[in-house]
Amino acid sequence: MSNTDNRQPVPAMILGEVASSGLARGRALLCDCAKQTVVPRRQVSEAEALKEIERFDAAVSAAEGKLLEVQESVRRSLGKAEAEIFEAQILLMRDATLRDAVRELCLEKRINVEAALDEAIKHLMDLFGRLADSYFRERAADLHDVGKRLLEHLVKNLQPSLPTLPDGCVLVTSELLASVVAQLEGHGVRGLVVERGGLTAHATILARALGIPMIVHASEATKQIRAGDLVIVDALAGRVFINPKPEILRKYDQLEADLQIHQSALKGLIDLPAVTRDGVEIKLCANIGQTADAVAAANVKADGAGLYRTEFIFLVQDHFPSEAEQYQFYRATAEHLQPGETVIRVLDIGSDKPLPYFPLTREANPALGCRGTRLLLAHPTVLHTQLRAILRLSASHPAAILLPMIGGMDELHAAKAAIENVKAELAAAGQPFNPRIPLGAMIETPSAAILIGQLAGEVDFFSVGTNDLVQYLLAADRISGDLASSYEPLHPAMLQVLAKLATVAKAKGKPICLCGEIASEPAYTTLLIGLGFRSFSVSPGRLLEVKHAIRSTGLSEAEELAGKVLPLNSTRDIKAHVQDDWSRRRPVSSPAIVASAPATTAPLPVMHKVKLQRFESQAGDAPLAFLSYTQEGEHVILDHTFVPDELRGHGMAATLVRAALDEARQRRWKIVPRCLYVAGFIERNPEFADLVERQERA
Ligand code: PEP
Ligand code: MG
Repeated sequence: MSNTDNRQPVPAMILGEVASSGLARGRALLCDCAKQTVVPRRQVSEAEALKEIERFDAAVSAAEGKLLEVQESVRRSLGKAEAEIFEAQILLMRDATLRDAVRELCLEKRINVEAALDEAIKHLMDLFGRLADSYFRERAADLHDVGKRLLEHLVKNLQPSLPTLPDGCVLVTSELLASVVAQLEGHGVRGLVVERGGLTAHATILARALGIPMIVHASEATKQIRAGDLVIVDALAGRVFINPKPEILRKYDQLEADLQIHQSALKGLIDLPAVTRDGVEIKLCANIGQTADAVAAANVKADGAGLYRTEFIFLVQDHFPSEAEQYQFYRATAEHLQPGETVIRVLDIGSDKPLPYFPLTREANPALGCRGTRLLLAHPTVLHTQLRAILRLSASHPAAILLPMIGGMDELHAAKAAIENVKAELAAAGQPFNPRIPLGAMIETPSAAILIGQLAGEVDFFSVGTNDLVQYLLAADRISGDLASSYEPLHPAMLQVLAKLATVAKAKGKPICLCGEIASEPAYTTLLIGLGFRSFSVSPGRLLEVKHAIRSTGLSEAEELAGKVLPLNSTRDIKAHVQDDWSRRRPVSSPAIVASAPATTAPLPVMHKVKLQRFESQAGDAPLAFLSYTQEGEHVILDHTFVPDELRGHGMAATLVRAALDEARQRRWKIVPRCLYVAGFIERNPEFADLVERQERA
């Protein structure tokens, strides 16, 4: 076997993750936007410490005024929803937790306010950073921003956040803050390349709102890219090209044109229903955490909020929000979404989602400890107050209650008793509420998945939280980077469970929505429909992409894909099928370009999997490449050749076909080259033509 592809030159390329999708090219501008300032530290006397606290209060007022200005300018230029992003920072700045921490450090350690602030921010960031939910984890970036703003008012000669930005540049930085992105409007910055960053960080949310393509986790970008380099930011495939060759530039000219067409098509979907090509209706709701998300969901006409994570409003406070405060938050959110329903999940804290003002016992295995509904039942007043606020809202707005981390029937019965109590209390006081407010259970634990049939008799609907279900089913921590390869939503066990959940819920006549992150991934949409799901709740920013995926698939092909992957017992095989399916239906795809030569120039070995009727090959951790065939009588039909993006350009398809044809000769197969690539290969390599001729004579 020999590799017949012509190798292309190896361009300099950095891989990363897509945070704000799109394409950009421009000259690189390197800037350390989140540059750590050297924070002055000195000992002070007790009297001076009190003065230091006064300086802190003055800095808070000044910084808050400045932040309100930024908020107002963002409101004018981008709109209300984007301006609300700064609400969290204003809340954090005013937060008594921060002030008390600074005060305590100044007085106890007798240090100046800058040093105390630095310590307090680091401590709180650490606390946020340890939360399970990436949404909250990334609020740590807001704290960083708040700390930086306050320091700017305390330390006179801090560096300005932004250098002069030449028109059409691509900003390359180690870290990016929301306040920096907010200043980019009108500066003609075309793309952002960030070494760290997060997918739900506010800097990312703003970059999306500004429509600036952004790649995060682009490791060593500030070392590999030099100022003035020409870069292409491919925020579709998650890669950055540095000084690309003319042929790569030409490929991207074409992709840019395709992308423009796709983006205007997406906007055109806002008023169209989420329905498959063959008429199956899908309910498409949004996952929200704060009012800004509700606005974003309303803008894309989501069918409602399928999951309102109420943790956020608790986390930004220094105390449990009162019933009145909670009612206001829920009402503001529900207002944006009506007439759609707002599914309000009661507080899901505990374990590694602690509230700073609610000390919990330290546990050896916090993910298996007191959390979710289990925790609320142990603290009935917290649950009681929240239920009162939700039930009162239900009098005027379509609202539903969702119970997190349900483990079994006893827990469900106890939670239902708490709800009935609150209803009785409100009724006795003459306060209006919806007595038939729908109640749902989240399916996030294996026990709930097993008991779904029994739970169905007690609730009105289900919501499948795959983020946790994957963690508990596969015993793989969702926040441990080291276990990323074991935390696998397409694991065969997960697919079996998902199929069962959809089937049982349907049989019991209970709506079931999928609200874990996999629902927001358009590449999975066909499979999830094929497994039986007809309702998804997704991040507002991904809703139109998912709607597009729904509208471009059909029930029969979805069921065919599910039927193909359900019997498979290898995650790798399942992924190859899903990726293959998506590669044929995705609206735009980045050009196949050789990123780097394979470690060895020898062709990769090809395995003939007789049972699967496939020739397979694989390099390292990359997904499988394969050539699949079927047998019809004495003919072997070479159906389909699939090479994942990562392996394109390495002659993999040719290697697979050559191996299949060599084997065909040995086994005296009669070949039907249904796959166009195979037909073309035989045309270019006439020594194999007799294999086809034999079939034609047959
Ligand atoms: C989930 O577990 O899938 C889920 C939606 O809940 P959270 O991510 O908030 O834990
Ligand atoms: Mg969960």
